[in-house]
Amino acid sequence: MNDEILKWIQEWYLKQTNGDWEHQFGLKITTLDNPGWSVNIDLEGTKLEDVKFDPIKIENSDLDWLVCEVENNKFDGHCGPQNLGHVLKMFRDWVEKEPEQVPGFQDRKEDKVLWKQLGDESGTETCKHSNCSKFALKRSSMCKRHHFEMVMGHPYSGPEI
Ligand SMILES: [Zn+2]
Repeated sequence: MNDEILKWIQEWYLKQTNGDWEHQFGLKITTLDNPGWSVNIDLEGTKLEDVKFDPIKIENSDLDWLVCEVENNKFDGHCGPQNLGHVLKMFRDWVEKEPEQVPGFQDRKEDKVLWKQLGDESGTETCKHSNCSKFALKRSSMCKRHHFEMVMGHPYSGPEI
């Protein structure tokens, strides 16, 4: 294992700590009787919580192999005796692929999708919402903003796209 990945995992760990996370969660590196290594990383409370992960399986020989999967918000990597760095790199690749998320990110993404789908206010009638003088959507009796609020139960706060 080279120093670079070790440095990276230390930094990743440090980034998760907030006075709270580290009391409940963390990561474990242990050995297997195959022989090999086992890496378990808690994802709850990190930006990878509930993010989909495509399992990875590499089998080159009895001593050169790895399996990575995610279940119940835990990253689980098993590998041969010389593949520990490789597993950590697989984890790093995944972390770096995912955009930085702030709480509520997923909700805002869904909002944006619906907002886009609603289309233009190209109806001929004005919005039936009181005190709204905007035109209604083609297939609604309300303008985009009011239709969105009715469907989602909260106002739209994303960009006007
Ligand atoms: Zn309206």
